[in-house]
Amino acid sequence: MGLSVGFSLKNNRYMKGLHISKKKDYMGVIFDIQRYSIHDGPGIRTVIFLKGCFLKCLWCSNPESQDIKKEIAVYPKKCIRCSNCIKVCPVNAIKLNENSVEIDRSKCIRCGKCTQVCSSTALRLIGRDMYVEEVLNEVMKDEVIYRKSGGGVTFSGGEPLMQLNFLKNLLIASKKEGLHTAIETSGFSSWQKIKKVINYLDLILFDIKHIDPERHKQMTGVTNKLILDNARRIAKIDKLKLIIRIPFIPQYNNSENEIREIFKFAKGIKINDIHILPYHHLGKSKYINIGKEYKIKNISLPKKNGLEPFLEMGKNMGLNVSLYGNKI
Ligand code: SF4
Ligand code: SF4
Repeated sequence: MGLSVGFSLKNNRYMKGLHISKKKDYMGVIFDIQRYSIHDGPGIRTVIFLKGCFLKCLWCSNPESQDIKKEIAVYPKKCIRCSNCIKVCPVNAIKLNENSVEIDRSKCIRCGKCTQVCSSTALRLIGRDMYVEEVLNEVMKDEVIYRKSGGGVTFSGGEPLMQLNFLKNLLIASKKEGLHTAIETSGFSSWQKIKKVINYLDLILFDIKHIDPERHKQMTGVTNKLILDNARRIAKIDKLKLIIRIPFIPQYNNSENEIREIFKFAKGIKINDIHILPYHHLGKSKYINIGKEYKIKNISLPKKNGLEPFLEMGKNMGLNVSLYGNKI
């Protein structure tokens, strides 16, 4: 290790052999950890959600993942108007209205002090600094389940590649424990960066949202050249499994032609496994909680039988297409 870290870290079994030169190499920002996941790779898995993303997908169900910095979520119905938060805010960003609490986000410096004194949990800090060893301690709680189910650990986000060195060390530590490792990625990262983690991965769940660059930009804020180039490169690596995931978003990419173009791309790079992830709006309320606008409105949820023709189309093209990766 090039950096002097705390005694307990240096002697922790998970920290040995990591590539560390800066603090952010062994400490990152996590916004959620989900155990017993069955949709994010084989078997039963723990999914670690890293904060920060390069894209701004209109339908994102984890808007709290997009900003790498911690942020404050407000749950007004829980507020009991005790004023404790107002007393500790160093920049006077909080006020009470008739029924609840309000934060002036242009003033808020995201210090989190208000969340520490809010006993009714009307204010919550999204994002937590965690060391590699802390994350691994969580992951290894279900070691037996992974072994029995063929599962492992999946690093998601946000975009896990955004905290690249932290991710790399998480993967190295996971591999040292013999775990099956996966990432869920938008693929929007330089090849140099992706190469840094490839040797520690068994599976990449790789989103492809649209083949048309302009349409892709409207949907996500970025064009797709880098993403498609990366998919082509990853597909050539024999020992690494690549699964393409298509978020199926009505009015944006749900026509027969749009989905067929993605299938054709997958076939062209010899990737057969495709997961369709139908749009849902379960994350809608989170936008209000963190003071963001939910920009796609009046979109109805796809009906399951409305997706069957796409599964059939994939099958006819010789692809293995499923909903969420579930066997049909
Ligand atoms: S996070 Fe800090 S600055 Fe922001 S409202 Fe709470 S106490 Fe004030
Ligand atoms: S501390 Fe919590 S409950 Fe009290 S006024 Fe602030 S937000 Fe409301």
